[in-house]
Amino acid sequence: MNTQNLMSIEYALQLILKTVPPMSHSAYEPVNIDAAHNRICSHDITAPISIPPFAASAMDGYAINSEDPQFTGAPPYQLRVQGRSLAGHPFHGELQKNCCIRITTGACIPARADAIVIQENAIRTSEQIEISHRPEKNAHIRNVGQDVGAGQLILSAGSRLGALQLGWLQACGIASVNVLRKLKVSVFSTGDELSSTGKSLAAGEIYDANRLVLIKLMEHFPVIISDLGILPDDEDTIRNALGAAAEKSDIVLSSGGVSVGDADYVRNIVSEIGHLELWKIAIKPGKPVAFGKIGKAVFFGLPGNPVSAIVTYLLLAKPAIEKMCGKSNVDSPLKTFATLEGSISHSPGRTEFQRATCYQDSAAGGLQVSVSEDQSSNRFASFRDCNCLIELSSDSKQPVTGDRVTILPLEGLLT
Ligand code: AMP
Ligand code: MG
Repeated sequence: MNTQNLMSIEYALQLILKTVPPMSHSAYEPVNIDAAHNRICSHDITAPISIPPFAASAMDGYAINSEDPQFTGAPPYQLRVQGRSLAGHPFHGELQKNCCIRITTGACIPARADAIVIQENAIRTSEQIEISHRPEKNAHIRNVGQDVGAGQLILSAGSRLGALQLGWLQACGIASVNVLRKLKVSVFSTGDELSSTGKSLAAGEIYDANRLVLIKLMEHFPVIISDLGILPDDEDTIRNALGAAAEKSDIVLSSGGVSVGDADYVRNIVSEIGHLELWKIAIKPGKPVAFGKIGKAVFFGLPGNPVSAIVTYLLLAKPAIEKMCGKSNVDSPLKTFATLEGSISHSPGRTEFQRATCYQDSAAGGLQVSVSEDQSSNRFASFRDCNCLIELSSDSKQPVTGDRVTILPLEGLLT
C-alpha cells in the first residue's frame, strides 16, 4: 500500500485540535448538581464554608485535655467520664479538669478538649477511663478546614463534573453550579446497504452498527444529539442533509462514504459546500477520515467499517469534542506497556491499533496482552473480550511473543 501521502495520527490530531473552537464561556446556565453529571464548569468554584466546619474527632474514643494536671504524674491516668459528644449531637458545656468526654468519629470536639484517646487505648469502667499514655495535643482531631478552607478553590473553570467532582460539591454544600451550554451534535450513517434494527434485511443489506455506539460514546460529554438516521448513497440527499445539519449543529458526525468507492460522496460534498482540512491518515484501522468545516460546524466523516469508526472516533473525534465542550484539559489516552503473548502481523507505514485483551499475571511479571484473532475492520466481534488497544507505530517490526508492546487501556478511553 502506498502510505506516502498519508498524514500521521499525531499531526492529524494536532491539526484537529488547532482547528476546532472551544466552547465560549459566555454562554452558561445554572443547574442543580444532581443534573450536572459530565457538564463542564463555566467558572472557578470556591468553597462557601470550611470543611469540616467544626473541629471534629477522627476516631471513636474520649476527648481529653492533654495539659490537665492528671498527666504530670506517672501513668496510668484516670479520667472521669463527664458526658458524651456524638456525631450530630455535640456536648454542650466545657470539659472539666481531669475528665474526659466520650466521643464518636465526626463529633464536635468539646470546649477545652485538645486531643482524642482512641477507644482501643482506654480501659473503661462505668464512671471513668484509665489510660497508660499521655496523648499528644491535637491527636486524632480534624481541625476546621482540614479538608478545604472557606474561599479556597475547589474546581476550576473547564473542569468536567464527574461523580467525584459532584460528590465534592455536595460535600461543600453547593446545590447548583454554573455550567457551559451543551454541544449540539448531529449524527448519521450513510449507505444504501444499511438497515435499522427491527426491520428484516433485504438482499445485500446489513444492520447499521455505528450510530448507536457513537451516540452512546458521545453521551459521556455534555451534548444534545440529533440522530439523523441513515442517509442513502445519493448526492443530493447527502448534500441537503449535511447542509441542514451544519446550520443547527456545532458538530456533524457521519460514518461511511468517505473512501474512494463509486458511492463515496461524503468527502466531495464537504469540499463542495464547506472546507475539507484532512482526509487520509496513516492509521489502521481507519485510513479515510474526513475532517473539516461546513459553515461554522465542525465535520467528522468517519470510515464506515464499525471498528474503524469506533477507533477513529476515540482517537481523533473524542479529543475534539472534549475541547469543543469547553473542557480545559484534553486528555491524552493513557498508555502503558505489556508483554505480548503470541505474535501479531503488522505492516509498516501506518500506526496500527489492534483490539486486545490484557490481564495482570504477577507470576509472569506483570501485564500480559494478547490480540483478538481476526483484526478485520468490519469485525465488531473483535471488540468482544477487548479491554485495550495495542499500538504499533508505523515503523515498528512484527512483534513476537515476549516483546513489550504499548497498550491503551479502553477503560479511560471509552468514557
Ligand atoms: P464505506 O466507507 O461507506 O465505503 O463503507 C465501508 C464498509 O463499511 C462497507 O462494507 C459498509 O457496508 C460498511 N459500513 C458503512 N457504514 C456502516 C454502518 N453504519 N454499520 C455497519 N457497517 C457499515
Ligand atoms: Mg458506503
